[in-house]
Amino acid sequence: MNGEATLYVLNEKGDGVAVVHTSACGTIQHQVQQAVKWEDGGYSYEYVGKNDDGDSVILEKPNSSVTHYEALLVTVDELVAWPRRYRRCQVCSPNVPDSPRTGRSDIVRMRPQSIGIRHFGREFIGIGPLVAITMSADGFQIQGESGSISIPHDGYVEYRR
Ligand SMILES: [Zn+2]
Repeated sequence: MNGEATLYVLNEKGDGVAVVHTSACGTIQHQVQQAVKWEDGGYSYEYVGKNDDGDSVILEKPNSSVTHYEALLVTVDELVAWPRRYRRCQVCSPNVPDSPRTGRSDIVRMRPQSIGIRHFGREFIGIGPLVAITMSADGFQIQGESGSISIPHDGYVEYRR
């Protein structure tokens, strides 16, 4: 160790539980190396007309696409502060503490219309503990102890369980 914090790779999955890897893990090297994947989709041909000799001219166009992989590198401190749950990769088993979060997620997402008296004092994401909510024709104004946000009628708010 030379004093620099070890970095781990955090992969978010669709089910809400992120997976932590060491940066040397073989399963995520394409991300660490920031690999670029070319998808060779062959060629398509477009008829553009006839040339002066009367021959048909065909334009050849590649159908390739590009995927760019990029690793999300975090320190242990950043990992523990991650708002969602994580688990260790079973291949590289990184030496990191258990996720302090339980369940699928500590963060609850809901419509502002569903805010009730029981939500006051809860920590809302971005504005702190809920203080007030007002409704107007434009939507909702949600006031927390450290700020306020405007949410349209069809929008969402998030708070910590
Ligand atoms: Zn791994």
